[in-house]
Amino acid sequence: MTDYASLVGDTAAFKTIEGDKRSGRLSHAYLVISADGKIKEYLKIFAKLMACENPEPCGQCRVCRLIDSENCPDVCFYPKNGTSVLTEDVNDIIEKCYLKPVEGDKKIFIICRGETMNASAQNKLLKTLEEPPRGVHIIIGSASEFPLLPTVRSRTEKLEIPPFSSDRLFAALSGECPDAERLKTAIACGDGTAGKTLELYGDENFARISELAGRVLAEMKSSRQVLKFSSEIAAEKADPEDFFSALEVRIRDLLVENEGRPELASERETVAAEGFNTASLICALEKINEARKRKKFNGNGAMLTEWLLFAILEGKHKWQKS
Ligand SMILES: [Zn+2]
Repeated sequence: MTDYASLVGDTAAFKTIEGDKRSGRLSHAYLVISADGKIKEYLKIFAKLMACENPEPCGQCRVCRLIDSENCPDVCFYPKNGTSVLTEDVNDIIEKCYLKPVEGDKKIFIICRGETMNASAQNKLLKTLEEPPRGVHIIIGSASEFPLLPTVRSRTEKLEIPPFSSDRLFAALSGECPDAERLKTAIACGDGTAGKTLELYGDENFARISELAGRVLAEMKSSRQVLKFSSEIAAEKADPEDFFSALEVRIRDLLVENEGRPELASERETVAAEGFNTASLICALEKINEARKRKKFNGNGAMLTEWLLFAILEGKHKWQKS
């Protein structure tokens, strides 16, 4: 099981709500910004924090357990279809917010994926955000604040969940992700969110791409091999961005190793890559950045991968001679 509480428990967002609860001034509407695909788990923890009788969400009491299983009559989750927030969802909130709470003294409405809520649904929600009935709290989670109307934003208290550090992610996810090396790779190639890390960890394709990136560095010595590797990468049909990230992580590891700081490496097992020195590794990192930029403009992934491998090989030869 992933320990989401340990991730979110230390954030300013959690501490703000905790403080609001302690002083009896819970906001009637919070807007939680996080690009994490697991944002619902964090919002659930916030709901427990608000509704649990204990100062911190205990996870043991009836209310905490009901919220965990999404069966608490006083805590409703949206969107109902799991993908985008519809006007029906908002209608449901407006209707239910006038019903008295059953378990405690609060009714909490959790809207995940707020970024998918269209303007008319947002306008409908405005009045409730402005003057909610007593004891009603709305938590909107959104990947970004910008898809939300300024009128919605101004009626909510904004909280942010920034990306997590690698150590924190490792500690929280290692229960669910027993393969430590694989987890470290996923964290290093991810974006600091639990969602992306879990996605990469579970992605067989990504595991192969990552292994391929290691082989590229260890084995690629001639132009002929560039063509061989780029067709292998193309055959994986993976997102070129994933390959760039996998390669970048390995190159960074080689670089810190080269500089005598192996403790900074993301993976314990570094690939043996002969012939790369600090200059050619830095050059390779620059080329990856350039490949990412080029990807944004024209985006032929297969051609870019080939270009990148040639550029890395060229840099390696160039810096070997000098
Ligand atoms: Zn509790």
